[in-house]
Amino acid sequence: MRFRSTNRQCPEVSLREAVLRGLAEDGGLYMPVTVPALPSAFFARLRGLTLPQIAFEAGRLFLDDDVPEDILQTIAAEALNFPAPLVTLAGDFHILELFHGPTLAFKDFGARFMARLMAHFVRVSGKELTLVAATSGDTGSAVARGFFGLSGIRVVILYPSGRVSEAQEKQFTTLGGNITAVEVAGSFDDCQKLAKQALTDAELSRTLSLTSGNSINIARLIPQMFYYFAAYAQLKDASTPVVFSVPSGNFGNLTAGLLAKRMGLPVARFVAATNANDVVPEFLRTGKFHPRASRRTLSNAMDVGNPSNFARMQDLYDNDWRALRAHVWGAGFSDADTEHAMRVAKEQNGHLLDPHTAIGLLGYRVFQRQENLPCQGIVLATAHPAKFADVVARATGANVPMPDRLSECLSRPKRSVSLANRYFDFKEMLLA
Ligand SMILES: *Cc1c(COP(=O)(O)O)cnc(C)c1O
Repeated sequence: MRFRSTNRQCPEVSLREAVLRGLAEDGGLYMPVTVPALPSAFFARLRGLTLPQIAFEAGRLFLDDDVPEDILQTIAAEALNFPAPLVTLAGDFHILELFHGPTLAFKDFGARFMARLMAHFVRVSGKELTLVAATSGDTGSAVARGFFGLSGIRVVILYPSGRVSEAQEKQFTTLGGNITAVEVAGSFDDCQKLAKQALTDAELSRTLSLTSGNSINIARLIPQMFYYFAAYAQLKDASTPVVFSVPSGNFGNLTAGLLAKRMGLPVARFVAATNANDVVPEFLRTGKFHPRASRRTLSNAMDVGNPSNFARMQDLYDNDWRALRAHVWGAGFSDADTEHAMRVAKEQNGHLLDPHTAIGLLGYRVFQRQENLPCQGIVLATAHPAKFADVVARATGANVPMPDRLSECLSRPKRSVSLANRYFDFKEMLLA
């Protein structure tokens, strides 16, 4: 499979090059030149397949030129070694729990797979790699944990000072080794901008082999398709149309779902559920895309004002607003809505939701009410409630027991480097 830039101003590249560059030379994001279709035989066997088996069968259509099959099998088995259970809350309503990985958020799927894939490429080339990732919280922990201890890869995590929860921060500032956490005096969008600028800096790329750990990297997007298939495989009734509701920020997760649909997964509709940072729902409503500075909310992993994967969504639908709208429905929700949804879920089902998942649930409920489609809903649960224990406690009065994985790193000392929001300073740091 070859990959091309969403800006279409530079040559097609191999998967290896797309992964090691992160961002295309022309500043665009890499997309597969064609989205391969899975054969009907795959769907006939889907129910019997494990997540690593799904990853192997769907993944090899993208990776086959660059990664030998036995290595892909090992990467899939090692990266996706935790469950993604579908929990049915009502007959037609399910939650796909994507938070059973080491950092308790869905980003473990993408980060662990990407880490092993890059480690393979570094092993083959023998060339040291520097990975830069901007984070609003969960990317940092998933990437840091996914890459910790891998030889030949230096990881630099950029995060907005004072805007991530303590539990999130401790997960990527307490590792040390090949992981450096950089605390930026600015917002997540500032961090993302610094990272992007470094990736397109020709002078830097002469000295360093630099790539991105964000969902702009195609290596994170590909594995995020797999659990959509795995969710479908777990449905008792596969004949009622399926709607996936995806709590969204940078829209990597939702874009992966759109790719899974393009590969043949029968999905009736996607719900793009956001917090107050609702530029994509607004676009779906009006056809106008107005990126703006992000606003702080309780669901901080989705505080993104200029979602990077929007370019991929547009590319996948040839910039046809109507075509995209036929597959994706969107809505944004306030913090008050979010807290209310968390409270109701606890009172009605005894179910504790983190604020991001609560927005996914709200999205599905409102979609159902407005569109009145005969369907069943799958809400992607993107984080474990313990990761946002303070928000959960305030909204519901419940104390979420702290999983050992989290309490261990809370007790370790934070180590970070402070950085002004200035590209020059960041560049000096990378070159030092
Ligand atoms: C990153 C994140 C999101 C948003 O995912 P995108 O792929 O950026 O849209 C949602 N919920 C949680 C808990 C996250 O960490």
